[in-house]
Amino acid sequence: MKINGSTLTCGLIGNPVEHTLSPVIHNYLAEIENRNLVYVPFQVENNRIKEAVEGAYALNIHGLNITVPYKSAVIPCLAEMDRLAENIGAVNTLVRTQKGYKGFNTDMPGLFRAMETENYTIKGESIILLGAGGAARAVAMLCMEQEAKEIFILNRSVEKAMAVAEEVNGIYKENRIIPMALSDYRKLLDRKYLAIQATSVGLSPNVEDVVISEEAFYDKIETAVDLIYNPYETRFMSMVKAHGGRAMNGLKMLLYQGIIAYELWNDVKISEKTAKEILIRMKEELKIHE
Ligand code: NAP
Repeated sequence: MKINGSTLTCGLIGNPVEHTLSPVIHNYLAEIENRNLVYVPFQVENNRIKEAVEGAYALNIHGLNITVPYKSAVIPCLAEMDRLAENIGAVNTLVRTQKGYKGFNTDMPGLFRAMETENYTIKGESIILLGAGGAARAVAMLCMEQEAKEIFILNRSVEKAMAVAEEVNGIYKENRIIPMALSDYRKLLDRKYLAIQATSVGLSPNVEDVVISEEAFYDKIETAVDLIYNPYETRFMSMVKAHGGRAMNGLKMLLYQGIIAYELWNDVKISEKTAKEILIRMKEELKIHE
């Protein structure tokens, strides 16, 4: 790649950022598209997010991704917010405007696009959502936006599930989200559900862990998504498959959140063919051989 006076700079703000796959996504996209753009990770220490965003704007940084721990903390530093990001209360993409940066959330549209490529449907489905942290809250919002029939949100700390349900139901003025404790899965009607695993249980190196270990739970699941992609197949996914269900991991969600951010920064549409090529690069980077 050739860097010159016209090279656009994009990047990632977070802490830590050492293991991010985002440079693989964006630098490869720029290469394929023959675009004069470079993407670099920026580690921002000790809540210096305001200085970082102001500095980035002053330096003419074209676009930014925001990751842990700044997805909510960045909001007061923005000139404008997209409606979905505002509802979710978390921003992972900044787009440069005349007034400052505008905040978007491409994680949820990314998950939706990833699910579409695997022919998963949300509309009209009964969904079991495991977890009530930042990711689960956003998934609950996506399920409401995409008109799921009902969303059972099961969490270890039931009060957190209740808080998410109350807040998200409140935003949509409906009561399609039903909070429960993890063990309450037994109370769910005997039918097949789409399950979305949005806890951090099973994340490497704790690969033997699973949020619900009882076999009976997996008889209820027809299709499943685990937001985790490291390991490539979590124990949750293997249990779903062992009970005849279909399961995908969170790597494509990561891919599409990046693609959507790139599309916003550069006003382009990335083809599925290119998406597949980037996925191969991401797997190479993670040393995944299927
Ligand atoms: P978070 O806010 O820290 O929430 C963690 C969730 O996991 C909470 O619901 C927590 O339950 C639950 N949990 C943790 N340890 C548990 C245990 N031992 N038993 C039962 N439940 C447990 O994290 P987050 O930001 O929502 O992220 C959740 C996962 O999504 C992470 O693994 C992350 O890697 C993944 N993610 C993936 C992508 C992607 O692009 N693929 C994007 C975002 C996030 P309590 O409330 O009871 O503590």
